[in-house]
Amino acid sequence: MKKKNTKKEIERKERKRKRIQVKKAIEEWKIAIIERDNWTCQMCGKKLERRKQCHPHHIISELRVKRNFKDLISDMNNGILLCYYCHKASPGSAHQGPLEFFIWFKKNKKRQYDYLVNYLNNQKI
Ligand SMILES: [Zn+2]
Repeated sequence: MKKKNTKKEIERKERKRKRIQVKKAIEEWKIAIIERDNWTCQMCGKKLERRKQCHPHHIISELRVKRNFKDLISDMNNGILLCYYCHKASPGSAHQGPLEFFIWFKKNKKRQYDYLVNYLNNQKI
């Protein structure tokens, strides 16, 4: 009985350790995206002055990345820096208008778009 509990405890700790690791990887990825995109919203061109204004966005969503495509979580090709408006607020933003966003993304970030399409095509899903 005690042994079982200990095993469960080890597993629980391992899951916690992994969660922290993923969180840390995402945080580092966000900073790298902000720097690569030069503190500028890639959709509207707005210069972002503070970290709070920066919305690094996962093209293939964080949820999907966590479940299926773990190596995309910290892949720079899976990220883009947006402002609050282009991320969540405007009708054509990444979250409000995903189709419009993808049309924009394909047109304006062709190399990244091709990389991600190629990545998904190579997954056996
Ligand atoms: Zn913007």
